[in-house]
Amino acid sequence: MNAPFSSHNPPPNPLSILNGLSVDVEDWFQVGAFENVIGRDEWDSIKTRVEDNVYRVIDLFAEADVSATFFTLGWVAKRHPNMIRRIADAGHELASHGYDHARVFNFTRAEFAEDIRKARAIIEDCAGVQVTGYRAPSFSIDHRTPWAFEELAEQGYAYSSSVAPVAHDHYGWPEAPRFAFRPLAWSPMIELPVTSAMLGQRRVAAGGGGFFRVLPYAFSRWAIRQVNREERRPAVFYFHPWEVDPGQPRVSHAPLRSRFRHYTGLARMSGKLRELVHDFRWGRMDLVAQHEALRATDLVLPAADMADIAV
Ligand SMILES: [Zn+2]
Repeated sequence: MNAPFSSHNPPPNPLSILNGLSVDVEDWFQVGAFENVIGRDEWDSIKTRVEDNVYRVIDLFAEADVSATFFTLGWVAKRHPNMIRRIADAGHELASHGYDHARVFNFTRAEFAEDIRKARAIIEDCAGVQVTGYRAPSFSIDHRTPWAFEELAEQGYAYSSSVAPVAHDHYGWPEAPRFAFRPLAWSPMIELPVTSAMLGQRRVAAGGGGFFRVLPYAFSRWAIRQVNREERRPAVFYFHPWEVDPGQPRVSHAPLRSRFRHYTGLARMSGKLRELVHDFRWGRMDLVAQHEALRATDLVLPAADMADIAV
């Protein structure tokens, strides 16, 4: 439950709530939807489009005068160091999205430790800035990975935004808190889950991804307004550079469902993003993490989840 407001922790004016805007920097062929048809060993032979797309995103943010956080793959940063510097020079936060988009729940703890260490070192070397935020590929931190938060805290991260607190066929941790929480008793590190909204008693994903492209913008506007005005909390929104690129190559041999998720609404995406950044107040995730640290709850897992962790 939220702590009652005191003079030290006043209720925020809903119109002034700073929402977290984020971009998961990966190329069009590095997404979960195509992982079974395009292997990592093929990545180096595919013509990259990420740099042009990131510059489009930077321009769109500049038009609206907003800053955001770019969770970047180490693999991408290594090949596009100039792009990394341009992101930092434009005033945005650089954070880590792991090295090559492997999901956390498929790692051992030692493999995860190595993956995040490697990605962070590459990004920090390119930009000359300190990385303090992390987002797991495909929101793959859940009840199966109790060691992931420990590893992030031990490596000195200030925040993670790696949990989707909804039920979904590829990811999701529906029992997790919907807003900022402290996963570890011994660390100030917080988790900022991607936004969900309540539709009656149901949690629905409302923080970006395929839902944002497929559904009318009015749904996202309603959901974020509800989170800001009724629940008085910031939204955490994400999208990918390939989503503003309707001209990207089509992978015809991917399953129909994957193609539907990846290609629907690409042409309308930039227009929707312009409305989104205009309608709400947005900023970098590190700032949102600082604000939310005051209100983060401790993670209390339901008994069923605790039993899962114990085995
Ligand atoms: Zn990703």
